[in-house]
Amino acid sequence: MRVAIIGAGWAGLAAAVRAVQAGHHVTVFEAARTPGGRARALALPLPDGRELSADNGQHILIGAYTDTLRLMRTVGVAPEQALLRMPLALTYPDGAGLALPDWPAPLDAAWGIARARGWRPAERLALLRAAWRWQRSGFTCAPHVSVAALCQGLPQRLQREFIEPLCVSALNTPLHEASGAVFLRVLHDALWRQRGGSNLLLPRTDLGALFPGPALRWLQARGAAVRLGRRVRALHATGSGWRVDGEAFDAAIVATAAHQALHLQVGADASLPAPAAARVDAAWRAWQSAAAALRFTAISTVYAQAVAPVPAPTTAAAALLPRPMLALRAGADGPAQFVFAHDQIRELPPGAPPTRVLAFVISDSRGERAALEAAVAAQARAQLGLPVTVLRTVTEKRATFACTPALARPPAHVAPGLAVCGDDVQGLYPATLEGAVRSGWQALDALDAPDA
Ligand SMILES: Cc1cc2nc3c(=O)[nH]c(=O)nc-3n(C[C@H](O)[C@H](O)[C@H](O)COP(=O)(O)OP(=O)(O)OC[C@H]3O[C@@H](n4cnc5c(N)ncnc54)[C@H](O)[C@@H]3O)c2cc1C
Repeated sequence: MRVAIIGAGWAGLAAAVRAVQAGHHVTVFEAARTPGGRARALALPLPDGRELSADNGQHILIGAYTDTLRLMRTVGVAPEQALLRMPLALTYPDGAGLALPDWPAPLDAAWGIARARGWRPAERLALLRAAWRWQRSGFTCAPHVSVAALCQGLPQRLQREFIEPLCVSALNTPLHEASGAVFLRVLHDALWRQRGGSNLLLPRTDLGALFPGPALRWLQARGAAVRLGRRVRALHATGSGWRVDGEAFDAAIVATAAHQALHLQVGADASLPAPAAARVDAAWRAWQSAAAALRFTAISTVYAQAVAPVPAPTTAAAALLPRPMLALRAGADGPAQFVFAHDQIRELPPGAPPTRVLAFVISDSRGERAALEAAVAAQARAQLGLPVTVLRTVTEKRATFACTPALARPPAHVAPGLAVCGDDVQGLYPATLEGAVRSGWQALDALDAPDA
């Protein structure tokens, strides 16, 4: 088949790789000049004239992202080199919090909870009991239950220092609005399913080099056409396939974010008999109404540089933070939930002075830029003891869909020969790279799915 894929984010690229593997002739259309969508590289100029290859937002992968890791290997990226792997640690600058040992699951989680620092024995016991309850229920709950309801009765400190950062980083949705069922699924896959599932995997390269760049090269080397800077406007069913802006294909996969797909003009070619055309129109209208009902939440990443009085370290090994990634106490004191030390994650060119760049991540971000930056600078001073200069703030207003209870996400199948993929399409995961990749993998099957 000639397959058109519209969008070269992680979902579209996953679909393209799978389509090429299945022997199809693939054409990828991407509106932007670079691939990667919401997980892409961007240049960060430093005051000393250097330019750092940073990202539109600090991303964390976890060991449970098995399809993403497999896909990276397919296109020639070795996750062992491209990602810094560490056992899960949700520790704060004062050392409080949870750090798992490198043991098989779920022993690692049980030991980590039992040994968590700064939590009273009764609090640790309460979390172990809750974990036991969730395990006995098969990590499932009724669809309408929120994370707040699921965790009702857990001590306040655990909610604040464990559940809240986990929930907001995985679902980008506050506790009282977040889906308990999706939260439990993530907990299960990360903490229970396999050894290393909860490991944190921090990209050692920029996100472009981590997957989208190698994927494009892999596709092109196998004859796929890649059209960057090409925004698709219209798709029309012809009876034997689909026209994408007038160009004929046997099938099309829309891999844009759901809200972007709402701008596409989708309908039937004049040659299609009226009843068939009406079915296409109705199917697209139904898909649009599900997509239009999604709400989105923002993520801000404040890139800042630690300044004096921190003595300028001479090597990257002189660490700014006790770990490459720390949890922060978000609230009145400051908006960021996590901070990442660039020099402790990325490899600097030999002999290059450290950058002292920190990335502060604000999930479910709501503030204005200037206020966020001032609050992050105050938070860095108060919680890390580091004076910082803000370099750049990136806010992705529609970073992810709000992962609320009983959410009806738009389906993957629209009409014969037309499928949709993306992190916001029906699936088991919240809006994550793994969710996007899984959806892309499944897009080809959705082309042939029966009509609803
Ligand atoms: C700041 C931030 C931090 C995040 N952190 C994490 C994290 O730590 N861990 C994690 O797993 N996930 C994280 N995510 C989520 C993750 O980035 C997304 O789930 C994933 O990138 C979504 O990929 P996608 O392919 O579904 O959609 P997108 O990346 O949105 O791709 C859609 C593509 O379609 C293109 N397009 C749109 N319209 C058209 C058109 N008409 N014609 C052609 N092309 C078009 C767009 O340009 C885009 O490239 C984060 C997201 C953000 C924004």
